[in-house]
Amino acid sequence: MKSEKALLSWVVNLMRRKIWNKHPSKLVKLQEGRVRKPIGHNGRLVYSKQCEHCEDWFREADIQVNHKVNCIKNGISWEELAGICRRMFDVTTNDLECLCKDCHDLVTYTERYGGDINNAKIMKKVIKFDGLPAPQQKEKLLRAGMLPAKTKPLRRKQVEDYLNGKVQK
Ligand SMILES: [Zn+2]
Repeated sequence: MKSEKALLSWVVNLMRRKIWNKHPSKLVKLQEGRVRKPIGHNGRLVYSKQCEHCEDWFREADIQVNHKVNCIKNGISWEELAGICRRMFDVTTNDLECLCKDCHDLVTYTERYGGDINNAKIMKKVIKFDGLPAPQQKEKLLRAGMLPAKTKPLRRKQVEDYLNGKVQK
C-alpha cells in the first residue's frame, strides 16, 4: 500500500463490494416494488423499478441502492472506521433509496462537492464537465468567453455559475 489513505480506501471499498452487496436490507430493498414491465424493442417483460429521485422506470439491473445518510460523511480514518461500518451495515430498508445511475451519480456528487440536488439538469452537466481532462475543460471555458481558472475545483465552480446564470436569464 502506498499510504495509509490508500490502505483505508481499500478497506472501505472491500466493505462496500464484498459485504454491502450481500446485505439483506439491500437485497430486500431491490425487490421491493419491482414490477414486470415491457422494456426495449421486443417488448419482453423485464423486472423494473422506479427511481426515487427522477421517478422514471428502469430495468432492475440499472437501479442502484443508495444510503440516505452518506456512510463516509466524516471522511475515512481509523477512528471513523467503526462509524462507517455502522452507517453502512446497521440499516433497514427505510435508510435506503433506489436510484437510477444518473441520479445516484448526482447524489454522490452533491455529497462530495455540495450543490443543489434539485437543480439536476445543471448538476448533470457540471458532473460531465468535471470528468473532462483539463485541456478540454479550458477549451470549453474559452469558447464560452471565460478565462479558465487554474484549478479543477475553480473551473467546476465557473461552469456551475455560468450554467446557473444562463438559466436565470
Ligand atoms: Zn433517477
